[in-house]
Amino acid sequence: MPHSIDLHTHSAASDGVLAPGELVVRAHRAGISLLALTDHDEVNGCEEAHSTALTLGMRFLHGVEISVTWSAMTIHIIGLGIDSDNRELQQGLEKNRHFRSWRAVEMGRRLEKRGIPGGYEAASRLAGGRIVSRTHFAKFLVEKGLASDVRAVFQHYLKPGKAGYVSGQWATLEEAVAWILAANGVAVIAHPARYRLTAGKLRRLLQQFIAAGGAGIEVVSGGHCEQDIPHLATLAKRHGLQASVGSDFHDPDYSWSRLGMIPQLPPECDPVWQQFLEKAENRV
Ligand code: AMP
Ligand code: MN
Ligand code: MN
Ligand code: MN
Repeated sequence: MPHSIDLHTHSAASDGVLAPGELVVRAHRAGISLLALTDHDEVNGCEEAHSTALTLGMRFLHGVEISVTWSAMTIHIIGLGIDSDNRELQQGLEKNRHFRSWRAVEMGRRLEKRGIPGGYEAASRLAGGRIVSRTHFAKFLVEKGLASDVRAVFQHYLKPGKAGYVSGQWATLEEAVAWILAANGVAVIAHPARYRLTAGKLRRLLQQFIAAGGAGIEVVSGGHCEQDIPHLATLAKRHGLQASVGSDFHDPDYSWSRLGMIPQLPPECDPVWQQFLEKAENRV
């Protein structure tokens, strides 16, 4: 079911495979009229994406997906409509990227201890000088023939408790939301159903997020099942949160997410993008 709005996508500026401009061209061809680029802990693809969107007459939001350590687990917070030049945001993301660089070396070391050398060098090469993600390590391990596909690699090597996993020391929830607000953006919890939280813990996350100034959750996500949607729509309404939609697209050859190929938002939801469309109209 195609959707004309996609507010969660990745480019080669983080762990996606398309250059930011290529991503925008593909999104335009897929019928998307409002797109956000939300790379992991990085905003430097936004400018190229924005200028391509302008040439195509497509609406574009600068975005980011910030890694957060909350309750000893990793949570992702999306910033939408951010000023990507904002100093506070830039400095915050720099801190997360600093941890990322250290973690990549440590992941390489741990894999080597398990008899798999060369992971750090290969992942860095695949990242091409940009941020190193677990996705880059996953590609290396698949190339080595250690697992059949990326999903299996995560299962056996890269998820918590496995040989190559290094626990997160990312930003706090409050920091990430504060950086997004400092950059005039709107904070949204990415793919809340993927964390497999108990109802009580999810409630606690939402309350803490709202107290920090967070405004929305992804009700529709490429990382969710169809059954998650009504449940998340109800939660959003109960907590007065706006609803977002995003494919979490990374790679045209990888099937878990397709640009814009996500279900529609249930009608009772308050769409997070409404404010951006209104802002654009007021400017005209
Ligand atoms: P990182 O931020 O470097 O820890 O990497 C997280 C990224 O790894 C996510 O954004 C996904 O792109 C990817 N990822 C996480 N879990 C899986 C999985 N089970 N299968 C495929 N990709 C995954
Ligand atoms: Mn990713
Ligand atoms: Mn994510
Ligand atoms: Mn993502």
